[in-house]
Amino acid sequence: MSKTPVKRLAIVGAGFTGAVIAYRLARAGFDIDIFESRPHVAGNCYTERDPSTGVMLHAYGPHIFHTSNELVWRFVQQFAEFMPFTNRVKAVAGTRVFSLPLNLLTINQFFGKTFSPAEAERFVASLGDDSIVNPLTFEDQALRYVGRDLYEAFFKGYTLKQWGIEPSKLPASILKRLPIRFNYDDNYYSSVFQGMPRHGYTPIVEKLLDHARIRVHLNLKVDRGLAAAFDHVFYSGPIDEWFGHEVGRLGYRTLDFVCERHSGDYQGNPVINYCNLDVPWTRIAEHKHFSPWESHDQTVIFKEFSRECGVRDTPYYPVRLVVDDAMLARYVTLAHREANVTFVGRLGTYRYLDMHVAIAEALAAADRFVEVGNKGIPMPAFVAEP
Ligand SMILES: Cc1cc2nc3c(=O)[nH]c(=O)nc-3n(C[C@H](O)[C@H](O)[C@H](O)COP(=O)(O)OP(=O)(O)OC[C@H]3O[C@@H](n4cnc5c(N)ncnc54)[C@H](O)[C@@H]3O)c2cc1C
Repeated sequence: MSKTPVKRLAIVGAGFTGAVIAYRLARAGFDIDIFESRPHVAGNCYTERDPSTGVMLHAYGPHIFHTSNELVWRFVQQFAEFMPFTNRVKAVAGTRVFSLPLNLLTINQFFGKTFSPAEAERFVASLGDDSIVNPLTFEDQALRYVGRDLYEAFFKGYTLKQWGIEPSKLPASILKRLPIRFNYDDNYYSSVFQGMPRHGYTPIVEKLLDHARIRVHLNLKVDRGLAAAFDHVFYSGPIDEWFGHEVGRLGYRTLDFVCERHSGDYQGNPVINYCNLDVPWTRIAEHKHFSPWESHDQTVIFKEFSRECGVRDTPYYPVRLVVDDAMLARYVTLAHREANVTFVGRLGTYRYLDMHVAIAEALAAADRFVEVGNKGIPMPAFVAEP
């Protein structure tokens, strides 16, 4: 009796998306080659110890794990010890430091008041510009709901630095609901679970990929030509790059990190945002505060600068203006014509994805692959729509 040959799969990108798909499908009996253009696994979640200070660095920007998806939370616990961590962000606005997201403390300090929750809610409502009935731009949205003073102090400069576009030209959808709380909760996330892996994210991804059926190829950038050699490809690189930018380049913001080493405690908090336009960076991350269970005499900070992503830059945040979405629609059409490729992850679907979403979607993609295989039907180009 002849045995069905084992399917050979290629996965492009060894971030969370690629690694979780590889993990699941290796256990389902598939042979997997995973290709990563960088010299390391873990994608943008890569962490490493700074050789000179011993501080754990989040090389591509601060990553805090949070989720309300219990399945994902339980899944990641298998690969790391998660230490308790609550992200509390501060903001410098004008000449003062405030608590984020905008909450009762921020409002009371900003206006020099002692409002109760209900008083603050009424007060902020009274600041909103009622003449803006259907806000179409980010600026109108903010003016409508929080008024000019809060908008100019906390949103205007920061948004312009982050996106490089006047808030009056950004769609209101960038911020569907303004993050404002009428209590003293300064937990940046409202997820049920939150934590930080004791030894960073890289060992999690290494464990995901540690399987006899998985071969990891680092420093290897692959392209569309790869597909012919494999039964199926999961592609977590930029969708426009797969098609050689045939219909143009999707807009991204990239980040520059300027690293400084100091002694002691530089800013007393993991992240401080800088809302003023005359400060060129958007925020400063002090990495040892992401591992508060460790103790270091020295400290490492990253000043973070946002700018338009050039041809040779790392794409970070999809911009998703109307023009990008129109271009994306054309790439989606092309993707549906590919015979054996599934586009996954934040770059493959041109969306901002938190880690827990990337993991949940990767698990779903792997499960779908097994399911369609069992039914003998083709694997779709997308499991999560761009
Ligand atoms: C600044 C910043 C901060 C963030 N902070 C948080 C946070 O606090 N909490 C949170 O939950 N999420 C956060 N995220 C989101 C998080 O980074 C993503 O959820 C995660 O990276 C998604 O994983 P991925 O595998 O889809 O993509 P990636 O991590 O980008 O992995 C894709 C990989 O594919 C590789 N690749 C691309 N093209 C090719 C090719 N042609 N050949 C070979 N390899 C290729 C890339 O080198 C990359 O390593 C943040 C994102 C950014 C940008």
